[in-house]
Amino acid sequence: MKALTQWKSSVARRFDTAFVGAAAIPLILLAAVAYYLVADKLQERALDDAHYLAKDLGMAVFDRLKFVNDELLILSRHVDATSNYRGMLHGLDLQERTHGLLHISHDEKLSGNVHLSDRERSTLLRQVGRFSDDKPLLITLGEPANRRLFMLLPQVGGQQDARWFGAELDTTYLWDTSGIAARPDYVCILDNDASPVFCNAPDIAGWVENSRDHVSERRRPAAISDADGETFLTAAWTLFLKPHYQFERWTVLVGIPRSMALSSIANFDRVFAGIGAIGVLLALGMGRRLIRSNLKPLKSLSAATDRLAEGNFRHRVSLDSGDEFERLGDAFNDMAAQIGQQFDEMQALAAFDRALQSAQSIEGAMRAGQQTIDALIGPGRVALLCHERWSGAGILWCLPFSPADVHELALTQGQELVANVRSGDAGEMVQACPYLQHLGMQSSDDVRQFPMLGNEHVAAEIVLRNVQPGDEEATNRIVDVLGIALDNLVLERRLFFQANHDWLSKLPNRARMRDLFNGAVADSSGNGSVIGMLLIDLDRFKQVNDSLGHGVGDRLLALIGDRLRSVLPPELVLSRFAGDEFVAMLPHADSREVVSELNAIADQINSELDKPFGLGLRDVRMTATMGAAVYPYDGGSFESMLQSLNAAAYAAKSSRRGSMLFFSSGMRDSLVGRMDLEQALKGAVPNNELVLHYQPVMDARTRRVRSAEALMRWERPGVGLVFPGGFIDVAEDSGLIADMGNWALHTVCRQMQAWIDACYAIESVAVNVSSIQLSSDEFVGQVQHALDESGLRPQALTLEVTETALIGQFEEAVERLKRIRSLGVRIMIDDFGTGYASLKYLKMLPIDGVKIDRLFVKDLPDSAADEAIVAAVVSLAQSSGFKLVAEGIETEAQAHYLRDAGVPYLQGFLFDKGLAADDIERRLRKDLLEKENNVTSVGMG
Ligand code: C2E
Ligand code: MG
Ligand code: MG
Repeated sequence: MKALTQWKSSVARRFDTAFVGAAAIPLILLAAVAYYLVADKLQERALDDAHYLAKDLGMAVFDRLKFVNDELLILSRHVDATSNYRGMLHGLDLQERTHGLLHISHDEKLSGNVHLSDRERSTLLRQVGRFSDDKPLLITLGEPANRRLFMLLPQVGGQQDARWFGAELDTTYLWDTSGIAARPDYVCILDNDASPVFCNAPDIAGWVENSRDHVSERRRPAAISDADGETFLTAAWTLFLKPHYQFERWTVLVGIPRSMALSSIANFDRVFAGIGAIGVLLALGMGRRLIRSNLKPLKSLSAATDRLAEGNFRHRVSLDSGDEFERLGDAFNDMAAQIGQQFDEMQALAAFDRALQSAQSIEGAMRAGQQTIDALIGPGRVALLCHERWSGAGILWCLPFSPADVHELALTQGQELVANVRSGDAGEMVQACPYLQHLGMQSSDDVRQFPMLGNEHVAAEIVLRNVQPGDEEATNRIVDVLGIALDNLVLERRLFFQANHDWLSKLPNRARMRDLFNGAVADSSGNGSVIGMLLIDLDRFKQVNDSLGHGVGDRLLALIGDRLRSVLPPELVLSRFAGDEFVAMLPHADSREVVSELNAIADQINSELDKPFGLGLRDVRMTATMGAAVYPYDGGSFESMLQSLNAAAYAAKSSRRGSMLFFSSGMRDSLVGRMDLEQALKGAVPNNELVLHYQPVMDARTRRVRSAEALMRWERPGVGLVFPGGFIDVAEDSGLIADMGNWALHTVCRQMQAWIDACYAIESVAVNVSSIQLSSDEFVGQVQHALDESGLRPQALTLEVTETALIGQFEEAVERLKRIRSLGVRIMIDDFGTGYASLKYLKMLPIDGVKIDRLFVKDLPDSAADEAIVAAVVSLAQSSGFKLVAEGIETEAQAHYLRDAGVPYLQGFLFDKGLAADDIERRLRKDLLEKENNVTSVGMG
């Protein structure tokens, strides 16, 4: 209300000021201009008046002088010094015009009836004496205030003794202004030297003085002030007398007081003030009336604005003035309605933002979206769909039209939600998109889809039924925000899933299993239940990986996960940690039954694994070796339970593949033994604990050493010499084999070069290469380096590679072998026959030879099957030019058979075991001596 009063008074004030201003300003301007113009005109006229007055008076003076002159001329002919002047004067009308006549003789005698003092008389005579007698004289005497004027004419006829005849002029007659100056104007007659001869008023000396320049410069009429500041409109007119009299001039100065000239407009201001006051009052009155008639609607508009500011958007103004105010009121009402609606929308959207921010789940976000659109367009007409599709066909989250819960549907491939705009009646729409049937719409509904987003993770849409104008706009307001929120939530779910699940099998991973275990522990405390756990280690999974490739291995793992998950009891938690290890957990188990339960589960697992898994062309059956442990007996924490499970599985593997063992405390020790071994093996290369023994390869016919194979041994501190069977597996599992193999490569090359330098009869030396070395890009460089460093010619070096080392990395490994071979190094396939390779496949390999495994030798010469294999390999070697070695020869029978079968080189305990370098040198020296002896004896024979 206060605001209104302030507003009102200020508006009223503004109105008043405007009206008064509008009336007064032009009035004042008009008056000022009119006053100025009139005053100017009046002044101009007064100046003209003064000019004509001066001129008229000047002319009148001249006429009067002329009259007196003419009269005196007539008179001069009839008078002499003795004449009766008075009578003459009377007759000639000079009586009023002169004070008397005078007569001056040649001898300067003055006579007549003019009264003169002696001094005046002599002054007059002195003056007269200065003039010639050709023109009349005008002579003045006395002080300006009391000036006397004489006119004297030269005496030419009449009295011969008279030189001048004249009269004293009556100045009252001469200067008389009556009949000329109509007003009480100021008139002065000025002398040659501008001193006044006559003035018609006293106290005007100041004005006369100020007019001096005006007169002397003969300026145009102008306003001139006197000493008191009064202004006179002044004009001067000069009466030049010289042509007629021996006298210069008189100047008539006329001044009209300005106040008098402008007296006719003296009342102007009073008249103007009256009219102005009336104008202003009229303006004020009209303004007030206008204010009164306009303030009422303004007041109600102002009150309505206050209500609006307070947040009351429902209040409306009603003005039926039929003018702009009514239209303003209507516009105000529209605006208030619009603001109200926008405010409601903003509140709904703000609530939506809050709800989205706190939404932890897809359901929460969808519900927030539905509630917001409900608030914007009215309830019951919106449903939402969110298709989470980052894994397989994904899950469809449906939020139906009528108030209902979000439900999850597992979609099958090809059934995915496609985020496209479509609309139509419910029946058609369900036919096009069958998933819409879950939204609970009626057949009469008109349905329209609004896609929110569609990417690789998620597709989502809003479905409206019976769309009305404005619905689309309202829906579009939340589409983007909700879409982004759903995308984020799905991404979060995916990240959570990825962090907690094994990507391959989709089973919980180690981290998730730990959480679930800890949860189960928390649940079990107090109720006496125990937790049974199984470590399921797939047997020979590495072989599948190596032979069929990792892709197939991965598929197999996924299939195993799926199958086990689907058949095992639901309360059993199945997880995959890494590689071929699965861990199962049976929470809340009874301590008396847990052992039999775990046994039953282990049996079930193995019988499920024994059923074939289809991997394309091949079916695979699996077995698993398992370790079991029970919380809290076998471990107090997740980590210690895993250790127990590992120890049990390790023990089970050592006893029999496919078996299951419960943990016992002794098992931990053997597991610890393996860990110790790995730890100790780390020091083998740096501490120079590795040695190479060399097993000779003999010529089958001459039984002489042709080459040797380097076999690695480990002088393990505190243990003694360890054979490869005791450490190669661990070295390969731990990756230590890379350095160890490189060490062997360098040592072999140096050793061989030393033998060459000593001229021993050995053609080449072979070194075993692990699949781990072959899988490294650095391997070729390492071979080159070993050769360079030792100076060995490449042909003296052979690499032994097993078939299984190639499988799984076939192309890369073959490429590397090709490059090594291009250096000149020989490649042989070791343990031929134990892997998956066929004879046909051998031809594809960049190799120089094959070593037939002991497996095919040990039963010779009594095994027909082995004989056939040997024959086949021999014929392949002969046809392809392969070097052929048979290894593991222990008996002469084997040696003979193989020699006769066509195997040129033999290796085995029959000839020598792996020998220390010194020993094999001795052996080589012996061969050398024998050879020399033979040569000598042959030579002698
Ligand atoms: P391999 O390359 O097939 O080596 C032959 C193995 O058979 C050697 O065992 C050798 O002592 C043994 N042997 C030789 N003749 C006979 C025989 O007549 N009867 C029997 N029963 N055995 C015989 P070793 O030295 O224990 O080596 C075993 C395996 O360890 C080697 O098999 C090879 O695969 C691997 N190995 C040895 N040294 C190295 C090496 O430096 N690097 C790599 N990566 N592996 C190596
Ligand atoms: Mg070998
Ligand atoms: Mg071998």
